[in-house]
Amino acid sequence: MEITGRSIIGNSLGDEQGLPFRGVNPQTGETLEPAFYPASQPEVEEAVRLAAAAFESFRRLTGRERGLFLRTIASRIESMGDLLTNRAVAETGLPVARIQGETGRTCGQLRMFATLIEEGSWVDARIDRADPQRQPVPKPDVRSMLRPLGPVVVFGASNFPLAFSVAGGDTASAFAAGCPVIAKAHPAHPGTSELVGQAISQAVRECGLPAGTFALLHGTGNELGEQLVRHPLVKAAGFTGSRGGGQALAALAANRPDPIPFYAEMSSVNPLFVLPGAMQERGESIATGLHGSITLGAGQFCTKPGLVLLRDDQAGQAFIARLAQLMGGAQVFTLLNAGIERAYRAGTARLDQTPSVETLARPTTPSGPGCQTVAALYQTSAASFLANPELQEEVFGPAALVITWSTKEELLSLTRALEGQLTASLHASSADLQDFAELPHYLESRAGRLVFNGFPTGVEVCHAMVHGGPWPSTSDGRSTSVGTRAIFRFTRQVCYQGFPDQALPVELQNSNPTGIWRMVDGRLTQDSF
Ligand code: NAP
Repeated sequence: MEITGRSIIGNSLGDEQGLPFRGVNPQTGETLEPAFYPASQPEVEEAVRLAAAAFESFRRLTGRERGLFLRTIASRIESMGDLLTNRAVAETGLPVARIQGETGRTCGQLRMFATLIEEGSWVDARIDRADPQRQPVPKPDVRSMLRPLGPVVVFGASNFPLAFSVAGGDTASAFAAGCPVIAKAHPAHPGTSELVGQAISQAVRECGLPAGTFALLHGTGNELGEQLVRHPLVKAAGFTGSRGGGQALAALAANRPDPIPFYAEMSSVNPLFVLPGAMQERGESIATGLHGSITLGAGQFCTKPGLVLLRDDQAGQAFIARLAQLMGGAQVFTLLNAGIERAYRAGTARLDQTPSVETLARPTTPSGPGCQTVAALYQTSAASFLANPELQEEVFGPAALVITWSTKEELLSLTRALEGQLTASLHASSADLQDFAELPHYLESRAGRLVFNGFPTGVEVCHAMVHGGPWPSTSDGRSTSVGTRAIFRFTRQVCYQGFPDQALPVELQNSNPTGIWRMVDGRLTQDSF
């Protein structure tokens, strides 16, 4: 298997035309071969046309057939072994162990969705049987279930070259729902994207699926993404990246003549509260754990704790001193690419230059050929934070801002002022839980996931996970991009009234041929009738 630098459109490869670009090793600054060619307008058109055609049969596959497809993709990815690992390491600067772990997570997530759809109850089948004798009017037979939306565009994320990229959670959940996928490769890891794209294409062929089930399109600059989100045959999109990019594309999706669902995961500063009792009990170990969480993966996780809220007292000051010592260490981090390095420098400079913000550990740029940096830590007061809304902006990388508060009222004001977040973490003792009983209730309206006495990095991929949150952490706070509920983003409810049994989808037929759980006349059951 070799990297061709060309898009994948059905059974063909894109042409070598347009302005080529190359991946760059952020560790060394070295440009990587081969050159990648952007998808042309006719190629985009062809990919979307094929996807729309494929939808007609892909949507009708049984859960077992689509499950086999997902399992085949996972096997093909695993069989790439070192080829994929080495390319991903070269393009992202992430360590081998991280890439191997992410490969495992990607394949695990594909298999998790396979298990979900093979069992089948996720379609939320509901049946209200007819009652012709009902007075004053007869009751009709009404049945409903979830159905796939149509072709979905997936924007790969730069910071998860596998688990949130070409075969990541958005793709797995869209395929599981019955939607063909057109993946827009992230320009920072084009070779990794192509290898994974080839694995999916191979699975499409092995499973005898229509060619348009999957496409991978390369491109740099905003044009390709805009063209895809505007395309009338595209029915939804999933995105992970910057707030600017997410907002621009969400606006395009909403302003189409036929607006489509657009699920963007954008930015979150993931506040972490250390309440006084917890501070007394285990301030030192919280500081150590927090340092690990802020700097994990060079701080390039959407769940990195970027705000730390604690009381301005002796224990709080000792905590800050310890955290500053840890953050000010000599460890050098490699950021994912030059764009992210620039954004990190700009974000930390903004904090550094805010008069009411004190710099506790300053990011210097170590000499070296790549995108290297060090950690940074800042401190400000509750009054300063409330007066400077820009202090809520995400700084992507190993940096955090500590906010000190004096009274409970001040803490609650800070909490009320927070924007929507993916996570909020609470370190509290039993006494704290009584003294600050309102806090979890406030946090519930601000974040998608509340973490107790822990750290938010390391998102478990499981059925109950919620990786979403109110605006601006995501563009639609009712959704999650991790866990099996992610499938619901690419579906809509369809109701069948008065249909003859044989004309209904099997999930709604009287005999319940697939044996799924259904709500029949208001009662959950696997029974047939
Ligand atoms: P990005 O610049 O938003 O790019 C993500 C994807 O969207 C790329 O494929 C990009 O391709 C496309 N895109 C961006 N803006 C677009 C627009 N206006 N119209 C059409 N397509 C657009 O994100 P990134 O490169 O991954 O990282 C940049 C910054 O995003 C980081 O510094 C960080 O602040 C933030 N980020 C946040 C998270 C998170 O999970 N919260 C994750 C990753 C990054 P083109 O450039 O080819 O258009």
